[in-house]
Amino acid sequence: MRAAYLSAPINALLDGLYEGTATVADILREGDLGLGTFEDLDGEMVVLDGRAWQVDNHGQAREVDGTARTPFACVAPFHADTIDQVPTGTGIEDAVTGLIPSPNMLYAIRIQGVFEGLRVRSVPRQEAYTPLVEVAKQQATFDFPEAEGTLCGFWTPAFLHSVAVPGCHLHFLDAARERGGHLLSGRIRVASIALMHLPRLNMALPMTLDFLTADLGRDSQAELGVIEKEG
Ligand SMILES: [Zn+2]
Repeated sequence: MRAAYLSAPINALLDGLYEGTATVADILREGDLGLGTFEDLDGEMVVLDGRAWQVDNHGQAREVDGTARTPFACVAPFHADTIDQVPTGTGIEDAVTGLIPSPNMLYAIRIQGVFEGLRVRSVPRQEAYTPLVEVAKQQATFDFPEAEGTLCGFWTPAFLHSVAVPGCHLHFLDAARERGGHLLSGRIRVASIALMHLPRLNMALPMTLDFLTADLGRDSQAELGVIEKEG
């Protein structure tokens, strides 16, 4: 089906709910491209071609099997509606923003090519209930003057900020499938940008005591700006 699948709303993660509520096998049944994190916030998840990788806080990627657990992941059964190229030197987010026909639709994104000035991050494993905004202070960042690989992720409309990261959210996996992370910034040298529009969103609501008793009415927008966008 042409739909994004979310294993939980991002607000639960912001609140420090890092218990895995779905397995990688569950996630891969819903889509073959996407991103997320792992139980106890143990690194960044990259889903590409129906396989899943875990990027640890040293930036090292390793493939995980279907039993790995996640508190938050977003995937889609990817099929490119459009494939475009942009001029060398274009900022990655600017390139995506310039290609989407409307900011009010969800898009799955796959960008394959060579990037310059790439900065990505990963996070160390956490105790439960540490607010995500605190965790962001411990993030490790990694710089690649030049890197070949794939960026996978989503464009999410601003009005969905309590369920997914608004705007452009991309995770990187290098061509050797050995390094990666959550994209903070970078430019395109030469790459093809494939977009799929997603007019539906399926979201699971975890049936855990933590989720059922959490106060999820917070305004996530300011915190997400700190956590997901800055280096
Ligand atoms: Zn991310």
